[in-house]
Amino acid sequence: MVEAKVITRIAPSPTGNMHIGTARTAYFNWLYARRHGGRFLLRIEDTDRQRSTPEASRAITRAMSWLGLDWDGEAVSQFARADRHAEVARELLEKGKAFRCFSTPDEIETFRERARLRGQTTLFRSPWRDADPATHPDAPFAIRIKAPKDGVTVIRDRVQGDVTVRNPELDDMVCLRSDGTPTYMLAVVVDDHDMGISHVIRGGDHLTNAARQMVIYDAMGWDIPVWAHIPLIHGSDGKKLSKRHGALGVDEYEAMGFPAAAVRNYLARLGWSHGDSEFFTDAEAMEWFDLDRIGKSPARFDFRKLEHLSSRHIAAADDADLLAEIERFLDAVGRPGLDPRQRVGLLRALNCLKGRARTLPDLLDKAHFILSERPFSTGTPDPETNGILMDLTPRLRDASWERDILDRVVAGVAETRDVKSGEVLRPLRAALAGSGVSPSALDMMLVIGRDETLSRLGDATGHQIND
Ligand code: GLU
Repeated sequence: MVEAKVITRIAPSPTGNMHIGTARTAYFNWLYARRHGGRFLLRIEDTDRQRSTPEASRAITRAMSWLGLDWDGEAVSQFARADRHAEVARELLEKGKAFRCFSTPDEIETFRERARLRGQTTLFRSPWRDADPATHPDAPFAIRIKAPKDGVTVIRDRVQGDVTVRNPELDDMVCLRSDGTPTYMLAVVVDDHDMGISHVIRGGDHLTNAARQMVIYDAMGWDIPVWAHIPLIHGSDGKKLSKRHGALGVDEYEAMGFPAAAVRNYLARLGWSHGDSEFFTDAEAMEWFDLDRIGKSPARFDFRKLEHLSSRHIAAADDADLLAEIERFLDAVGRPGLDPRQRVGLLRALNCLKGRARTLPDLLDKAHFILSERPFSTGTPDPETNGILMDLTPRLRDASWERDILDRVVAGVAETRDVKSGEVLRPLRAALAGSGVSPSALDMMLVIGRDETLSRLGDATGHQIND
């Protein structure tokens, strides 16, 4: 189904790293916009000056870029639009949809205290809502919306269904504070309206805000966007995701060396499904994604699933793309970059490395045999090992460099020495790898070639064949 003029947004508050839940919301919005040929916008909700920092804004754009979630146009700063928010507050006042409230913080606190003692709702009911303007003092005032007192407000949510809120539960919330600054609730509505947002896809923790925000939409006579409140992410124990469950920031997943495509795939599966599909490409996700397939219950974060998807994405990656991703990873975590020799070698080795790696650093560990330069310190071999390597050397020198022929050389040496092939492969692998983890001996020989193979055997035995 193609919907007309889809415009979605992600509206993070820059108060820390980009939360993995925010990343999922961003990805859902991105997928929805891209799928429908629409626009995906980024708004930094930096209205709260105490908590917002420029570093956190940068962390957001950085995380978005790493995830490959490109947004259309410039990122919008909510704080920069404060004048416009104030203008709408005044308009609400002029339309009679809002009122000047002169109650002081002390008065409001006293009201709440009394309500608590009487066991009544602590929603503040301002005495100024219906006051005669002639009685207004010459004092600072906040602008409060006039929320409906009776009836119900129905949020028609694409994920949650119809959610009904009783209007007496809605307060006459402040839109503009007495110091002239807009509240978050007003800013969100004005920005979403002005940015032409057609679909607000966001975390379920904002569902109750939707009812309050609808009061502003109605008062301004603005079209209400399509709401889609997605259930929060829980930890594997079913409790709300917190630091205790492990990494929360997108940057931590990058530092752990998960490819961005795998994280996207994993995020898509957190709360959304397409039949039984677990592993899919971006193109498939874009083709399949729909709001109707978002579940109503919280998704559980499962690290093993992420690792599994990660290994599949690494295995399926194009070699040149994977190399570029590895280089970005090294840069991001501050590890030394690849020199030209290593780059060429790694590109050649990727084919045999990528089928077995869970993460990029895991792949790099197994790439020691191609990234490091001989001689490796493998220690002095025992006579048996030495004999095996010495037997292998001339035969490898004369063999044609193909997998089944090399396989036969190993089998031949095993036969002459009356041992199993594994006993020949083990010291051969150790001599070639120079580290505990590596691909198979045959894979390594095919990657490094004959000369290098013979040199490494020579290093191990102390007898270089070409010396
Ligand atoms: N700034 C809010 C947050 O980071 C999101 C607001 C919204 O999506 O409406 O949770």
